[in-house]
Amino acid sequence: MKKFLAILVCKLGRFVGKMIGKGSSMPGKAALKICPDILSRVQLPQHIIAVTGSNGKTSTVEMIAAILRADGQTVVYNEEGSNQIEGVTTLVLTNSTFGGKMKADVLLIESDERYAAKSFKFFHPTEFVITNLYRDQLTRNGHPEYVYDAILPALHPDTKLLLNADDPLSSCFAQGRKSVKWFGLDHCATDLPAPSGAYHDGAYCPVCHAPMVYDYVHYNHIGAFRCTKCDHHKMDTDYTATALDLENGVLTLDGTTTIQLAFRSIYNVYNILAAYAACRECGVSNEVISKVINHYILKNGRMQTFTLGQRHGTLLTSKHENSIAYDTNLRYVTSTKEDCVVLIIVDAVSRKYFTSETSWLWDIDFDLLNCDHVKKVILSGQYCNDLAERFSFTSLPADRWSVQPDIAAAAAELAESGREELYVVTCFSDRDKLLAHVKKEG
Ligand SMILES: [Zn+2]
Repeated sequence: MKKFLAILVCKLGRFVGKMIGKGSSMPGKAALKICPDILSRVQLPQHIIAVTGSNGKTSTVEMIAAILRADGQTVVYNEEGSNQIEGVTTLVLTNSTFGGKMKADVLLIESDERYAAKSFKFFHPTEFVITNLYRDQLTRNGHPEYVYDAILPALHPDTKLLLNADDPLSSCFAQGRKSVKWFGLDHCATDLPAPSGAYHDGAYCPVCHAPMVYDYVHYNHIGAFRCTKCDHHKMDTDYTATALDLENGVLTLDGTTTIQLAFRSIYNVYNILAAYAACRECGVSNEVISKVINHYILKNGRMQTFTLGQRHGTLLTSKHENSIAYDTNLRYVTSTKEDCVVLIIVDAVSRKYFTSETSWLWDIDFDLLNCDHVKKVILSGQYCNDLAERFSFTSLPADRWSVQPDIAAAAAELAESGREELYVVTCFSDRDKLLAHVKKEG
């Protein structure tokens, strides 16, 4: 009876919530009050895939859903991104019969790193994808090892882990476990011999704390790592990007499947790899996967093009408080080799909570912008002075960067001055302020 009532309340709550434009966590919250263990009483699908990690969760989940649907499977997933237990409860119950049977072949969950253990208290994923663990949202997440400890209790012994072999920290989740599959990228032309960036989170082994060395590095501290003391090293991969040509946007999976990349970023490659691994585990063929992923443009578009006066512009969106995401976007700008100006906007640190904490700006490798084709950098938004302070410690000559606090004024100046390409590096919430002043393409 309690089960029926919880499902009924959740379905009704969701129906009303949708009409009045409310989020998706309230109905689940109400259902959990009526029946706290409701999630253990529902009959779930054969495959329950969870995706967590610092970067790439939303994109990976979106691609997994698109591939599985193209394969003819029914997928239920938290498209609105409400990834704590209340949102997951709403998702499960609104897609169940009143008798408590979920109507789907696959339940796919984007899971918050910090709250995964709570979400999976009453049921556990059959496959758990962990994309990576990086410095991310310092005021909320502390350091990556803290997030590691938060995820660990969410990993049921029966769950198969799909892990990134190139990330030294999230690789540790394999310790003491039998059921692990690895995805990773082989050596490629754009690799570096040693880690790069403003800091080095791969300097010491996360298992024994001895120094680590790298055979090659794809970006920051992600690559073929080896501990100099213990056995921690990049594992042989089950799902592999065997070749990557970022300049021409071509990725080869397991030597046989060629993918044309819509977005030529190494980030995109890892998200594709994670989605590829998860879908292959669900029995999808390479043929279906390549058909969907070829030229795939993400719905939550982290890259968007626009025009501003005489300029063609590209918005590169990443999370604030996440230096590796920024580094990846800056590396994209430097790889283009065409004359350009770069606008960097930090207007709000987070869209979810208030913090004025800007230490993460010091973790970003802004020195990447010190190259001949980057003609000018403009710093804008409420935190432009924090950016300016950071820039005064880079190798960029002082005449190559300037400050314009007002985003509208920065856009007006750029519209009237020159025609070089324009790259805008910012986060989702700040980009909307700029988009009001430009003409969107596509
Ligand atoms: Zn070690």
